[in-house]
Parts: sequence; C-alpha cells; structure tokens
Amino acid sequence: MLRTDILKQAELWKRRVVLHLEDPETALRTGQIDHHDAEFLSTMPEASDVYRFKLFDTSGRVVWSTRPEEIGTSEPRNFFRSDVARGMTHYIQETVPLSEIDGLDLHTENTSKTTQHHVAEVFMPVTKNGRFIGAIEFFTDFTDLRSTFIYRLRVSLAILSGIALLALSAVSLVTYRTNRYQLQSLKNRSDKERELMDDQLRLAREVRLLGELNEWLQSSRSLDELFDMVSRFMTHILPEAEGSVYVYSNSRDVLDGCASWNGGSHKAHIHPEGCWGLRRGRTYEFGASEVDFVCEHAEPHDGRPYFCFPILAHGETVGLLHLRAHEGSGEAFHDSKKLAQLCAEQISMAIANVRMRDQLHDQSVRDPLTGLFNRRHMTETLRKAISRSQQTGSPLSLIAVDVDHFKKFNDTHGHDAGDMVLRAVGSALETGCDRDEVACRIGGEEFMLILPDNTPDDAMTRAEQIRQAVEAITVRYGEKSLPRITISVGVAHYPTHGVMPQDLMRVADDALYAAKDKGRNQVQVGKSNQTVTDIADRKRPVVSGSSTSLAKP
Ligand code: GH3
Ligand code: MG
Ligand code: MG
Repeated sequence: MLRTDILKQAELWKRRVVLHLEDPETALRTGQIDHHDAEFLSTMPEASDVYRFKLFDTSGRVVWSTRPEEIGTSEPRNFFRSDVARGMTHYIQETVPLSEIDGLDLHTENTSKTTQHHVAEVFMPVTKNGRFIGAIEFFTDFTDLRSTFIYRLRVSLAILSGIALLALSAVSLVTYRTNRYQLQSLKNRSDKERELMDDQLRLAREVRLLGELNEWLQSSRSLDELFDMVSRFMTHILPEAEGSVYVYSNSRDVLDGCASWNGGSHKAHIHPEGCWGLRRGRTYEFGASEVDFVCEHAEPHDGRPYFCFPILAHGETVGLLHLRAHEGSGEAFHDSKKLAQLCAEQISMAIANVRMRDQLHDQSVRDPLTGLFNRRHMTETLRKAISRSQQTGSPLSLIAVDVDHFKKFNDTHGHDAGDMVLRAVGSALETGCDRDEVACRIGGEEFMLILPDNTPDDAMTRAEQIRQAVEAITVRYGEKSLPRITISVGVAHYPTHGVMPQDLMRVADDALYAAKDKGRNQVQVGKSNQTVTDIADRKRPVVSGSSTSLAKP
C-alpha cells in the first residue's frame, strides 16, 4: 500500500517536472536547463515530499541534480539499463541515517544524526511518443508516512481485530445459544418422554389394580366383605386420597357409613339431601370451581378438595363414595378424578352384584307374602339350632302356629283380605322374635318359630304372648276393619320332645292340633311319650290328652 502510494506520488512529481520544463527532451538529453527551469527544479523539494532528485539522459548520465556535484556522473546500477531504459519504473526502499537526507535542519531536529529514516528511491522513465528520452530519480523520506501508515495499519488491525473479536463473540454467542436451545429442546424432549413413560407405567399399574379390585369384588359374598376389600384396594389405587363409603339404609331415608380408609373417617349416618352429589345425581367435585358448596357430611371441612360419587346399582342410587385429597396433593388429586370414577363404577357394580345375590338368596329362603323364612329355610335353621344345642347344652323350643277357621275367613272376606291378615300375622310373629329367633311360614296359614336358648317355661310364655298379640291385630280392609282372628299354638322342646327336626316339628304340630281340639285360640305343649300310632288313630291330628293347656278361658 505504501509503495503504491509512493509510486502514484512519483508519477505526479514526474508530470510536474516534465510539464514545467520548457523542452524536456533537450533538457534530459543535454542538461541544458534555462534559468526559469532551474529555479523551478530547485524549489521542487520545498514544494513537495521529494528531498532530492536527479535527471538522467538515456544512458544514465546525470544531467541535473539537487546535488550539483552529481551532475555528469552516471548511474552505475544495471537496473537502469535493464528496466528504466525500457520504460519500467524502478523502486528501491532503504533505511538511511538522517544525515543522508537533504534539506533537514539537523540543529533543530530533536533526533540524532544517526537516527535511521525510511526513504524511497524511485526511478521514473520519461518517454515521448513511446520513446525513452531520459529518467528522473526521486528521493522521498516516508518515515512519517510509514509511521502514519503503521499507525493506521495498527488502528486498522485493532479495528479489524475488534470486529473479528466481535464477530467471533457473536458467532460464539449464536452457537452457544443454538447449542443451549438444542440442549434445552433435547432435555425437554427427554423430560416429556420420561413423563410419558411414567404416565404409561402408572396407567398400567392402575389398570392392573382396577382389574384385581374387580376380580376380588366379584368374589365378595357380603357387603361387609366387599367394603373391607374396597378399603384395602383404594389405599393402593388412590394413595393421595382418604375415603369413605356410605350405603342407603333399608328405610332409604339415611345412608349408613360402611367403611373408610387411608386416614378418612365415616359418620354413622348421613342424610342424602346433605350431599350435593346425591342431590344432583352426578359426581360432585369440591374445589374445581370458583364457587363451591360444602356437603353436610364433609363437615368439618378444612378446604381440601373432595369428590362425591353417587353409587348406582341397576339404575338406582344405592350409596356414596366420598374421596378427600390429602394435604398438599391437590393437583394429583384432581388428575385422579377419572380413575376415582372408574373405582366408583366398579364398587357400584360389585354392590349391585352382592345385592342381587342377596335378593336371589332371599327369594329362595323367604316367603314372598309375609317376608318370613320359608319351610326349606326353617328345616335347615332348626337342624343347625339342634346341632348347636347338642354341642352347648342350651335349651331350644319350637312353636307351631295355625290361624283358626281361616277357610271361613277367606270365604267371607275374600282371598285378598285373607292375604292381608296373613301378612299382619307374619309381622306380629317376626316382631315377637329376638336375636337368633326365627319366624317361618311353612305353608298356607301355618307358621313356626324356632326359639334357641328358650327354656320350656320361656317358650310357653312367649307362645302365649304371641297368641295375645295376634288376637289384638286389627286389619283395615278398605273402609272397614276386618274381624279379629285367633291362632292355635303348639309348643315342643328339645330334647324333651325329640332330638331330630322332624320329631320336634311333629310334636309341636300335634300340640297345635290338640289346641284346635280343645277349642282353638290357645297354647298346648307337646307330650314327650307321644307315638306315631297315637297320631294315626286320630281322624285329623289330635293330640293326646296330656297336653299342657295355656288356653284362653
Ligand atoms: P282350622 O281352624 O281347623 O285351622 O280351620 P281352617 O279353615 O283354618 O283350616 P283349613 O286347613 O281347612 O283351611 C285353611 C285355609 O287357608 C284354606 C285356604 O283358603 C287358606 N289359605 C291357605 N293359603 C292361603 C293364602 O296364601 N292366602 C289366603 N288368603 N288364604 C290361604
Ligand atoms: Mg291349617
Ligand atoms: Mg287353620
């Protein structure tokens, strides 16, 4: 760059010289320079950066110089002939002591004589119509220029370095950001994949547990057993929630608390109107809306979210599953709603199954008209009661009951009225039973009561109480009250009257017919030594004369 600048400058100097010379060709060839030209040439160093210059003829002889002693000398270096004489510029750069440079006032210079200066020596060929007519050699001190150049170069380099540094920083920043973004994306993706994996594992576990719950619930034989299973499974399936389950009582005015788990508790009874889930007939989620109402059964309430799932069996609401979030598990709890709903459905189905099984069982052991146990169940129950008495030595009594003149009653008031009376009698008998005592309708208007732990005296008293209770029954039929009815009662004791179910039943039956024989509406106790022959002798069962009477006077 520096060399190019100096060469350009030398071209301008050459033009100035050639233009100012009156006859450049003659001047260069002969060195004949008039006064006017000589004045111009001698002032040239003051008017330019040239501190010294010479004019050559074509052979390299100095025809004019700022140093007059050089005039007539020849340029000895070969490049003059090989390059300059052929029209080529020749450039030489060197370092010379300060003393070599013309025109400098060494006294005023701060620097010493030996200070080195950078100079350029430029040979410029002069041509006319393409013909070499001589040359000019310029000397210029470019030390300052060089310093400026170096300074500029340094500044440029510094700027370039700065720019490069900035660019590098920018590239690094972009690369860093790109890498960081990519790393973040990778991390996000792997986090998402891990979450997905966790979700799938959790889902698989939940499905497995639900399957197991379903299997266990289906095999439960009673509601108690079922709720025990529910408690144990729910703790595993929804560990972030405590729970309780309620089932409608038979009267359907309240729900009975059946079970609770995982830190939860249940009330003995709750009212259906006090639960928003039951009242609205769908799942109620407390804590999901801005405005919430607390269910009565959830009191005292501390603000924790909860669910109320109505339990349905065959389209009918049979109970309530209540789940409440553990402290600090709000979000997880809300997320578990679907799973909780599935659990509620499983529990609903299981309750429906148990209820249906209970119903079927009831139908097989109960009499549909009175709701009392039927003959089949009675035989089985009596067998068990005898077996128990055999083992424990506890007393046992059997009471046989038959409605008096019931055919006539039916004929007079109709079969429906008769049914109503039978239901009333059944109800009176059931009301008269305690604890393990069982009332059965063994057919038509005949009933039997099995009274474990009743001594003969107890049994006689109970039989008389029953007789009186039936006698006191008033049944309204339409507008009118039906006439009162009476019963005849026979009593047998274990083991006095037998150790087998059929023996005891036969003796009680015989005692009953003895009561009929004696005028009905009374209690008779069986005879221990009664024989089959005795019974066979009677036209219609007649008990032997030794029956103990508790007959109404
Ligand atoms: P007794 O005092 O000797 O027992 O006379 P009774 O008329 O009660 O005896 P009987 O065995 O002759 O008649 C029983 C009647 O009970 C016959 C039948 O009309 C009636 N009966 C049996 N089962 C039912 C029933 O399910 N509903 C109604 N309404 N009547 C029944
Ligand atoms: Mg009868
Ligand atoms: Mg009868």
